[in-house]
Amino acid sequence: MNSVLFWIIALVSIAFILWPFWRRRVALEGVTNGMSSHLADLLAQRDNLLSAIKDIEFDYEMGKISREDFEQIQEQYRHQAIELFKRIDAAKGRAIPRKKLETELQMLRQQRHGEAEKTCPSCGAPAPATHRFCSYCGQRLVE
Ligand SMILES: [Zn+2]
Repeated sequence: MNSVLFWIIALVSIAFILWPFWRRRVALEGVTNGMSSHLADLLAQRDNLLSAIKDIEFDYEMGKISREDFEQIQEQYRHQAIELFKRIDAAKGRAIPRKKLETELQMLRQQRHGEAEKTCPSCGAPAPATHRFCSYCGQRLVE
């Protein structure tokens, strides 16, 4: 009887300890998915642009548009493609460190709650106005 009770308490404690980690991981995955769908969006735009370039080349070869129009449109497409490739590179290279992600998430959460922010005088970490101690270094925060 006593050992059953012990295991129940142990399991509940473990769940209680792990719950915040699990929740944070879900939140972080949400952010990562958001970023990769942004990248997928850019890649789709690039594909559209490349097929538009092929279309315009085809139209020119078929004699549907003049050489001037063709060159002008192609130049425009090329500019768009360069911009798009830059943005794709930026989206790919944006491997935000976990620590920074968590800080950003925390700041987002605070903004959503409309809480005023203060800065830790010791380590400079942002903290909600309602906090009396820094959650990073434990420094007492001035009111
Ligand atoms: Zn601090």
